[in-house]
Amino acid sequence: MLGARTRRTPAPTLLRTTDSAVRLTRVTKRYGHGDAAAVALDDVSLGIPPGTFTAVMGPSGSGKSTFLHCAAGLDRPTSGTVHLNGQDLGELDETRLTEYRRTRVGFVFQAFNLLPSLTVEQNITLPLRLAGTAADSVSVQSVADGVGLTGLLRRRPAELSGGQQQRVAIARALITRPEVVFADEPTGALDPDTAQDILLLLRHAVTDLHQTVVMVTHDPVAAEHTDRALLLSAGRVVRHVDRPSADQVRDAMSELRRTR
Ligand code: ADP
Repeated sequence: MLGARTRRTPAPTLLRTTDSAVRLTRVTKRYGHGDAAAVALDDVSLGIPPGTFTAVMGPSGSGKSTFLHCAAGLDRPTSGTVHLNGQDLGELDETRLTEYRRTRVGFVFQAFNLLPSLTVEQNITLPLRLAGTAADSVSVQSVADGVGLTGLLRRRPAELSGGQQQRVAIARALITRPEVVFADEPTGALDPDTAQDILLLLRHAVTDLHQTVVMVTHDPVAAEHTDRALLLSAGRVVRHVDRPSADQVRDAMSELRRTR
């Protein structure tokens, strides 16, 4: 049984036209052509309000990575439009899109993706340096303190635990104060206690810093920290669960598998 807060809502009713940090309008992504074509995203329309934490979930192959890549401007849809805070990403050529991503979008990956030869501080400020902006030491210190890295700025990634490395990645994602932080299985490589700390940190970024965070995860416990879990199946957003509990998400996922 699905929980009381689970609603079977057709995706288009999630569409917001004005106040979305992320807005997908009729986004389809096809790989390949003819008989070999795979439809990874199938006419997805939805809006994600600013200052919210969203989990993107679904069985393997349901389109989660493709959703993240299209929504973050890492890949272009076959059709449809993606807006980030009102900017139509389709209007940007490759150079401007790269620039936009660098300064307006934050990324956190499962494998941390830190540069091993740089210190923690240099890793955190890398997006600023790539954008040609000077890093001001007060905001670097404040971001580092905010993610629990006080006193570790001169270390290199190899001298940190996995959880600390992911904190560096989160600080790096937040340093530009982006429109949206996209996280791809950010707790996938961490033990459950450390994973919990990282999820609390992302929650803090949303609640206290008013950051928008969109996180792909397969973990119902991770989804519990979010405001809304979107469930994908065969390239479509088939359900959402607001203020999800892990049990509600587990139930919704098993029902999805049964009805596929
Ligand atoms: P998920 O992240 O939920 O596992 P994906 O977004 O990776 O799902 O994939 C969705 C569908 O698109 C799958 O059927 C997958 O095989 C297909 N797909 C993804 N990327 C490619 C690609 N580069 N070329 C061909 N098919 C792809």
